[in-house]
Amino acid sequence: MDFVEDARWFTPSAEHSGPGHVTLIGAGPGAADLLTLRAAKALGQAQMVLYDNLVSKDVLALVRPGAELIYVGKVSSHHTLSQESIIDLMVRLAQSGRSLVRLKGGDGYIFGRGGEEAQALAQAGLTFEVIPGITAAQGAGACAGIPLTHRDYAATLVFATGHLRGKDEVALDWQTLSRPRQTVVIYMGIGTLPIICRELLAHGLAGDTPAALVERASLPDQRCVTGTLARLPQLAQDERIKAPALIIIGHVVRLHEQLYPAQTSAPALQAVL
Ligand code: SAH
Repeated sequence: MDFVEDARWFTPSAEHSGPGHVTLIGAGPGAADLLTLRAAKALGQAQMVLYDNLVSKDVLALVRPGAELIYVGKVSSHHTLSQESIIDLMVRLAQSGRSLVRLKGGDGYIFGRGGEEAQALAQAGLTFEVIPGITAAQGAGACAGIPLTHRDYAATLVFATGHLRGKDEVALDWQTLSRPRQTVVIYMGIGTLPIICRELLAHGLAGDTPAALVERASLPDQRCVTGTLARLPQLAQDERIKAPALIIIGHVVRLHEQLYPAQTSAPALQAVL
C-alpha cells in the first residue's frame, strides 16, 4: 500500500481517459469484520482509496496490496482537507478515469457527508455505487448490550447530531428529542454534552432518564458508561470520555445491566472473512 501524505498536491495522471467509477463505502464502526461482504470485496479489488480518520487500521488492511491510499481525514479541530477540497479531488480523480473507492466510517449516508459527495458526483455526470455500512449507533447498541428499540421501552428511534453547521452549534428540535418512549442517539455530541443535557431537561425529559456514553464501539478498547441524563456531563468528565463516542438516551439503556454481562465477545476476524 502506498500512502500519499498530502492529497493537496496529488495530481491525477494523464494516462487515464474516460470517467472512472466511484464506490462510496461505509466502513462500519471500526471492527473490520463488521464490514459488509460487498464492501470487503470492493476493498480487495480497489486501485485507489480516499479514506477518513474514523476508518480503522484493520479495515485498511483489507485494501488490495499495491492500491494507493489517500488520507483525507478530518479530526473536528484539525481539518486535513476541507470538505470542498475532498469533493474536488474525488471528482478530478474520477474524471481522469481513475477507479476510486471513497471510504468513510460507519455509513456514508448517516452524518458522513456521503450525500454531499454523491451530489457532486451526480452533478459532474459521474456514476457511482453506494455500499452501506453499519452505522455507529447500531455498532454501539450491539457492543454495549443496548437494543435501540424494545417494545417495553421505546417505539421511536431518533439519530441526531450534536454538532451543526454555522453559528447555531446545537440548534436541535429539543421538543421532539424530549418525547417519551423514544431512544435518542446523538453523534458528535461529546463536546456539547452539557448543552444537550440541559436542553433535554428543560424540555421535559426527567433527570433520572437512563443514559449511556459509548466510546470506540466495536474496537478492542471500547468503553460504555451508564448513568442518568442529569448526571451524564459529570460522568463524561469523570471518565474522560473522548470522541468518537455516542450518547444514548432513553429507557432502553436500562437493558445494558442485564444484557451486557451475558454477551459473548465477537468472533475473530479470520473466522468471518
Ligand atoms: N458516518 C458515521 C458517523 C460519522 S460522524 C456513522 O454512520 O457511524 C462521527 C461520529 O460518529 C463520532 O463523533 C461519534 O459520535 C460517532 N462514532 C463513529 N464511530 C464510533 C465508534 N466506533 N464508537 C462510538 N461512536 C462512534
